[in-house]
Amino acid sequence: MDLEKESNERISSTSSPIGGSRKGAITITGAGIIGLNCAYYLHKQGYEVTVIERGDITTGCSFGNMGYFSPSHFIPLASPGIIAEGLRYMLKSSSPFYIKPRLSRGLIEWGIQFWKSSNAATVAKQAPHLNNILQYSRQLLNDIKVDIGNTFSMEEKGCLMMCKGQKALDHEFHLADDAEKFGLKTKRLNKDEVQALEPDVELNVTGAVLFKDDCHVNPGQLMIALKKYLEKKGVVFKMNTSVIGFEKIGNEVSAVVTDKGKVECDEVIIAAGSWLPIVAKMLGLKILLQPGKGYSYTYDNVQKNIKYPAILIEGRCAMTPWANQLRIGGTMEISGINETILPKRMKGIYDSVKNFYPGLQIDAPPENKIWSGLRPVTPDGLPYIGRSSSYENVVIAGGHAMVGVSLAPGTGKLVTDIIERKKPDIDINAFRVERF
Ligand SMILES: Cc1cc2nc3c(=O)[nH]c(=O)nc-3n(C[C@H](O)[C@H](O)[C@H](O)COP(=O)(O)OP(=O)(O)OC[C@H]3O[C@@H](n4cnc5c(N)ncnc54)[C@H](O)[C@@H]3O)c2cc1C
Repeated sequence: MDLEKESNERISSTSSPIGGSRKGAITITGAGIIGLNCAYYLHKQGYEVTVIERGDITTGCSFGNMGYFSPSHFIPLASPGIIAEGLRYMLKSSSPFYIKPRLSRGLIEWGIQFWKSSNAATVAKQAPHLNNILQYSRQLLNDIKVDIGNTFSMEEKGCLMMCKGQKALDHEFHLADDAEKFGLKTKRLNKDEVQALEPDVELNVTGAVLFKDDCHVNPGQLMIALKKYLEKKGVVFKMNTSVIGFEKIGNEVSAVVTDKGKVECDEVIIAAGSWLPIVAKMLGLKILLQPGKGYSYTYDNVQKNIKYPAILIEGRCAMTPWANQLRIGGTMEISGINETILPKRMKGIYDSVKNFYPGLQIDAPPENKIWSGLRPVTPDGLPYIGRSSSYENVVIAGGHAMVGVSLAPGTGKLVTDIIERKKPDIDINAFRVERF
């Protein structure tokens, strides 16, 4: 059966009401990890859910990322030192963080807010909120695993923050103190203790912190598993279908207009990742967000593989093992919406990996096999989760930057509570859409 054809046939060229029979019809724009998790929780509450996706589920940022669920990431990207680091790296083509100077109003406005947020006081204010949703989401992932089955290589062994030098290690130990105050479990490791965790691969590090609450999944497998589960349960997917506008009656959206017809709905969720500002603009809404490009490459058959996922602190890149598979990835390139791949940046990641793990037998990634994804980055590192005050029935769910996978179940659940007009389990005021 041609599922895509069948799904698209359900969109009439004029109008096709899909709501009514149960709690109401919800249309989600974007089948990234955020859109899928919104669909998961809304379906559970009995809504009729339609997900509209421009490409297939491999199109966005959610498929080829590192797959971490990271309660350890409670410090937002906009943090002290990041601006200086950006400026320092600006001219280096293999650098891990890069903002391409452009004459763009959106970038300038975003940059001003990013700069304003990159200080210790703001981070101290934001970190508890990020921590709340990270831990909330991590707990919900366990329930999802039980519900749909672990067909997505989930492993709960934590994540290593690997440090080359003493200065970085001291900083990580300090972060571990903060993490423990948030109730996270950590283990401080010296050189020999880290090496003992990776007996098959020679390391060249000073030490590490193991964040025990972190876990990892294969993100592509998770998306496939969620989509299959949701399709079986009756969620409608309209793939290769672009949202191009909205029909409104007063301050309510009555239908989502696509390039293949329109879909009437009671509520609209916009989960369009880095394209959030473009889709929101169709409703006259302004969202400050910049795409932050990252790269990854996956080795399929590493004979002596690492056992633990790891973030290489000074290298600003990451590694995720799944049995004999190994993914390496990183970089944050703020250069607008584009798919250009700069192989030198991937080479920078590879060089860092070899520097930290000299015993790892892997070749430099072939240039034509490099994956890239656009992280949706807000100026303050917190996501947008909430209703737009301009409409009765529009919810925004996006801007999860480096932690979109980690925050996806929590976001899906919170969005469902917002739709249900229920008090959410955690305070979401910090994520309000109109905060800039
Ligand atoms: C190298 C790298 C490593 C990362 N590692 C991790 C990690 O380990 N852990 C973690 O938590 N996060 C990680 N991230 C971040 C994470 O991948 C993102 O935060 C997350 O995928 C964002 O999900 P999303 O659903 O908002 O966006 P996306 O996955 O980009 O999905 C948005 C979807 O909307 C669709 N869309 C856009 N416009 C339209 C339209 N007009 N009509 C229809 N559809 C539309 C797009 O096609 C897309 O599929 C990483 C990112 C990168 C780049």
